[in-house]
Amino acid sequence: MGKRVTPSSFWCELAWLDGAPAPDVLVEHRDGVITSVTPGAPAPPAAHRLAGCVLPGLANAHSHAFHRALRGRTHAGGGTFWTWRDAMYALAARLDPDRYLALATAAFTEMLCAGWTAVGEFHYLPGLADAVRAAADRVGVRLVLLETLYLAGGPGQALSPAQQRFGHGGFDGWAQRVAAGRAADGAAVHSVRAVPPDALARVREAVGSRPLHVHLSEQPAENADCRAAYGCSPTRLLAETGVLGPTTTVVHATHVDVGDRSTLAGTGTAVCLCPTTEADLADGIGPARELADAGCPLALGSDQHAVVDPFAEARAVEYGERLRSGKRGRFGPAELVSALTVGGHHALGLPGGALAVGAPCDLVAVRRDSARTAGADPAQLVLVAGAADVHTVVVGGQVLVRDGRHVELGEPGPLLAAAITAAWAQPVPAP
Ligand SMILES: [Zn+2]
Repeated sequence: MGKRVTPSSFWCELAWLDGAPAPDVLVEHRDGVITSVTPGAPAPPAAHRLAGCVLPGLANAHSHAFHRALRGRTHAGGGTFWTWRDAMYALAARLDPDRYLALATAAFTEMLCAGWTAVGEFHYLPGLADAVRAAADRVGVRLVLLETLYLAGGPGQALSPAQQRFGHGGFDGWAQRVAAGRAADGAAVHSVRAVPPDALARVREAVGSRPLHVHLSEQPAENADCRAAYGCSPTRLLAETGVLGPTTTVVHATHVDVGDRSTLAGTGTAVCLCPTTEADLADGIGPARELADAGCPLALGSDQHAVVDPFAEARAVEYGERLRSGKRGRFGPAELVSALTVGGHHALGLPGGALAVGAPCDLVAVRRDSARTAGADPAQLVLVAGAADVHTVVVGGQVLVRDGRHVELGEPGPLLAAAITAAWAQPVPAP
């Protein structure tokens, strides 16, 4: 294995500036913060040269790292969102801090090698947050831990035995974990299924100005249950209890009507779409164009990690729109890159998302000579590239991925294989 190096400048064959690729761009930084960006510059001999097209770091706004162990194990016999959820509960019951550390380390390594330089971890396994933090530190990905409130099994229902550990400490225990978090951390409400209105009404005060995320209307059943119990849509319930606002991001928003969309936009709420997960779980195709047109900032997330590929995520937004509308070009390439960069950082409350003075020196270099990308207009790379085309990833000026491999941890495949095998082994007996 190699080690981390921190060159003081990077020279990019092409770099993404103001929504388009520009040639011969010199990026300099000090202590990981960009101090100059110069297009049309000759390459200084000491600069680290980056071939292909360099994007700002990509932010994965919605992740459950441990779900990575479910990939390719939930397709036999068909099933539904709800049978998938049973498999996820079975996995959660087998995790302890060591297993979680190995699994999250492997999952974050896969993400970083794919170009995600920041991740919002929607964390609902109390007691395992330290393992998540240690994994992110080991890999070098920027982590926003979203400590998640989870109190009920559904409207008027207690937590099921499989859900008990998610609710550890109740509302007060959650609020204490949020207050004790790192400065960059945020918080989450699992969903209106898992948090009753009286608790929703106390969330904003507990969270303050930290980023707040909530799963919203992923499945039609959530809307039906909410209407039956509370007489309104989940969006309306979140609005009336003060959960929505400019530091809030709703995740999915697959089944939101025109009234819900104007409520989301009117409160300045951002939306994180997770289209590969929404396809995998048969959630549906959300109204991405309508949400963007209403004024909701859009971000993207790989959620359950059935796919870890930012380009596939972005492309799936546009493909969903084409299939739904019969029209092409509903989202232009620059809008898709913006969701991966500016939108993702906004949703996580992080600086970044652009190659600009004062932004973190987070860079993702994408090959233009692979079988997928050769011959493509670099301005349209997001519609053809894949995670395997990311050759170099820089976080805070440090080169963490080279030739598609983490410089300290190597390729993600072997790490994932070992961690997933261990995660599914018989549970460790309680001491
Ligand atoms: Zn989720």
